Amino acid sequence: MTRTSLCPPPCPDAAPASGYISSLSVPETGRPRRLAVLGATGSIGVSALRVAAEHPDRYVVAALAGATNVTLLAEQAAAFRPAALAVLDEARAAALAALLPAGYAPDIRIGPAGYAALAGAAEVDVVVSAIVGAAGLVPTLAAVAAGKVVALANKESLVLAGDLIRETARRTGAVILPVDSEHNALFQALGGPGLPDLPLVERLVLTASGGPFRTKPSDEIAGATPAMALAHPTWAMGPKISVDSATLMNKGLEVIEACRLSGLPVSMVEVVVHPQSIVHSLAQLHDGSLLAHLGPPDMRVAIAYCLGYPARLPLSVPRVDLVKLSRLTFEAPRERDFPCLGLARRALRAGASHPVVLNAANEAAVALFLEGRLPFMGIAATIEAALCAHAGEALPDAAAILDLDARVRRAAEARA
Ligand code: NDP
Ligand code: MG
Repeated sequence: MTRTSLCPPPCPDAAPASGYISSLSVPETGRPRRLAVLGATGSIGVSALRVAAEHPDRYVVAALAGATNVTLLAEQAAAFRPAALAVLDEARAAALAALLPAGYAPDIRIGPAGYAALAGAAEVDVVVSAIVGAAGLVPTLAAVAAGKVVALANKESLVLAGDLIRETARRTGAVILPVDSEHNALFQALGGPGLPDLPLVERLVLTASGGPFRTKPSDEIAGATPAMALAHPTWAMGPKISVDSATLMNKGLEVIEACRLSGLPVSMVEVVVHPQSIVHSLAQLHDGSLLAHLGPPDMRVAIAYCLGYPARLPLSVPRVDLVKLSRLTFEAPRERDFPCLGLARRALRAGASHPVVLNAANEAAVALFLEGRLPFMGIAATIEAALCAHAGEALPDAAAILDLDARVRRAAEARA
């Protein structure tokens, strides 16, 4: 892969029309909030349920969705007794039903239509969107179309369909609250609904842990195995985002996510490596002030802020011991050794369909890497090849987005 021939060519910043977080109003009903947790069996889903369990007077779990891990989903269902569940297919639905306690017979839905039904159900107030990857798009859109409060962890849906989600939310009044720690940090630092003060913001600074290869020499990074890539130094996360963190694609996706949420151009979103993962991101204002959010590297903090918003509820996460920590350090990302960050910026600048190509090629390449069929640096090479082969196309709706997603995946798999 050559790093000098940038393809697609750089072009001026394309700023989204405006961001999402402009007029936040989460309805207070006076009764417990009814949660649907999509991706309940994953890292974020489990953390969300821990938050809900800590405040049983505030939250009722109305619906839970997993895909393949029916054992864990059955345990969660037995504990929270939601009225509706969803899994990937018929066989898993039957396996799940067999694991449920006697006398408890929830409605069990199947596949993308089932996830979307749970997300849009009248009995749900808040949807935790925590399915991994492009599979999260349809349920996220269903939640937004139904005007829900959406605690959004599935950053891929903003990368794939930022405009569609924004326009749908405008129409339905859906409120999108960012779970991703960096965007949640900015949301907290700028005071939640304070984001309308964006004219005061000179730049957003997203912090990155740097992943497991932050200090490794280039030749060692090139030979990285899946086990090495999955060993994240500070965060415990699912396998796909852990590999994204090792390649810095996670930060690339987050730059796109930040632009989509704030409406700011990519030139105003910087990335700084902060290995301790205590400062979760910063906003620099026009008087030179830096507003930051600090906290332990535990996703329950961000999740709880979204679930309770605008209330801030007590939480039993570990406290940061500043004296023990003693130092917070910051450094520039090594973009030559981690080309995915630059690829994401280029995709965002190139047009609406390029981020779809970026994300699909990345998801396919990460899966191939985890299967041992692609070397670590092959992930960036696969993405670059996909972007170079893409001339841009109109994506009027979710079906068109998913069609492009499928074509890019097929091409990436054929290339391996
Ligand atoms: P995990 O891999 O831990 O969990 C993924 C979840 O999605 C599981 O519940 C899994 O079900 C489900 N799932 C997988 N494939 C499908 C599918 N085709 N259809 C429906 N459900 C599916 O991922 P994470 O929890 O780490 O991440 C979830 C999302 O949150 C990602 O978008 C990630 O980028 C984002 N995020 C995660 C953070 C973290 O700290 N983990 C931080 C910030 C954002 P099952 O296991 O039953 O098969
Ligand atoms: Mg993040």
